[in-house]
Amino acid sequence: MFDLFVIGAGSGGVRAARMAAAQGAKVGIAEQRFLGGTCVNVGCVPKKLFSYASHYPEDINDSYGFGWNVNGFHHNWQQLIENKNHEIDRLNGIYQQMLENSGVELFGSTAKLLGGQKIQVGEHVVQAKKILIAVGGYPTPASIPGSEFCIYSDDVFYLDEKPQSIAIVGGGYIACEFASIFNGLGVETHLLYRKDQLLRHFDHAIGRFAANEMEKKGVNIYYQTEVVAIEEREQALSCVLDNGETLIVDKVLMAIGRTPNTHNLGLENTSVKQSNRGHIQVNDNFQTDEPHIFSLGDVIGTPELTPVALEQAMVFVDQAFGNNQKTMSYDAIPTAIFTHPNICTCGLSEEQVLEKGLKARVFVSEFRTLKHCLSGNSERVMLKMLVEQSSDRVLGIHMVGPDAGEIIQGFAVAVKLALTKAQLDSVVGIHPTLAEEFVTMRESQYCIGD
Ligand code: FAD
Ligand code: NDP
Repeated sequence: MFDLFVIGAGSGGVRAARMAAAQGAKVGIAEQRFLGGTCVNVGCVPKKLFSYASHYPEDINDSYGFGWNVNGFHHNWQQLIENKNHEIDRLNGIYQQMLENSGVELFGSTAKLLGGQKIQVGEHVVQAKKILIAVGGYPTPASIPGSEFCIYSDDVFYLDEKPQSIAIVGGGYIACEFASIFNGLGVETHLLYRKDQLLRHFDHAIGRFAANEMEKKGVNIYYQTEVVAIEEREQALSCVLDNGETLIVDKVLMAIGRTPNTHNLGLENTSVKQSNRGHIQVNDNFQTDEPHIFSLGDVIGTPELTPVALEQAMVFVDQAFGNNQKTMSYDAIPTAIFTHPNICTCGLSEEQVLEKGLKARVFVSEFRTLKHCLSGNSERVMLKMLVEQSSDRVLGIHMVGPDAGEIIQGFAVAVKLALTKAQLDSVVGIHPTLAEEFVTMRESQYCIGD
């Protein structure tokens, strides 16, 4: 009998299994596909490697203004895939070793709940006092005629050849990141979004600014545009748009969200409840309606980010096997979109401030970086900060610019700890950097909520 059996060895599952084992629990874990889950195999890690790959042409162009002259600069897609696969294999091995070293028993098969404490794992039936479902999600399939011709984010990492042209459907994280990646790699890139504001859950001004930067770099963005069918045309695909026009491309990438991975999990043998969209419903302690079954990560419908799944796992283990002192907070979770340039945000957007009925001073700064004074690159940076009028507290901090993710991570600590603008103003900047602008923004541009 296991103290804990974890279904899914992704970000959340592996962290929970290792931490519970470190508390002395007897732990088993089942993984049906790949150790490390989405993040390691078809998510954060390969995506960021591709993002690096796709920035080199811009770097080379920038270098001319600094006196460099680079000849014979070509990209080898197969080499990128091969090197990426090698790195992912290495990481898979590290995950396996981490689990083994922490005493977790690993089952390389699909797990299915049989009811009560029993779980079918491949050929075996195991029993556990506590069960943790951390099965993540998969790309939501398109449901239009010709959808069988589409590819999804998982497929991008294994394409045999770099397409000459691509249509990407969606306006969220994955659509925007892959638009930057393909565009940077020299692929003719079309981003088709059904509404009029990409990344519409982010600060609108930040989203518009980022979209404009992406367009300047060559991404063709179509707003208020839906693909209603896809047809095969000899060597290419034809996207039929809702305005009657067609777009001929090599590949069509659907990036229209992710669906919880709960099929064939045996939930019908339990009283675990799911939302309309299929997410497993849990209370603040990650407990389902079946008291000994818990769930966390992407499958419960909280922000679909690796650090969220990791933190949930730490909290779950503390509550179930530790000192029961931790709780999960979803306030001020920083998040980056690895477009070119990066978009990063922490705390409230202007729209969220207004929704909450708060009054805020809005500080905005837009400029061209020192580097681009010589490179000739027309890329611009935007920084935005919202400060509550009554308390002087920084409510939200946003940035579009190179390495925004690296920069905002530090500021996120301060935002989480309820930093005030006066405290920020007391910090001496680091010159010359982009980030120093956040400690030197003296005059607000406008106020909202009055
Ligand atoms: P997962 O990591 O998806 O792990 C679930 C595991 O369960 C999988 O390995 C699956 O095979 C296994 N499984 C499912 N069903 C069963 C079963 N019945 N039996 C056995 N095993 C099963 N987040 C970030 O923070 N930063 C990023 O830059 C980022 N980039 C991303 C890029 C892409 C293209 C994608 C798709 C996602 C990205 N994410 C990013 C999101 C991040 O990958 C997820 O939030 C994170 O992986 C969720 O972890 P999880 O443990 O909930 O699920
Ligand atoms: P998102 O939820 O971010 O975006 C989905 C997009 O698809 C939205 O623009 C949505 O439009 C659109 N859409 C939904 N259904 C349809 C449809 N039927 N037809 C056309 N468009 C549609 O999902 P993603 O797939 O981009 O990413 C999934 C999650 O993975 C993200 O939410 C994020 O949490 C995580 N992720 C994180 C990354 C990071 O941290 N850097 C990178 C990649 C993924 P609308 O706005 O109108 O609803």
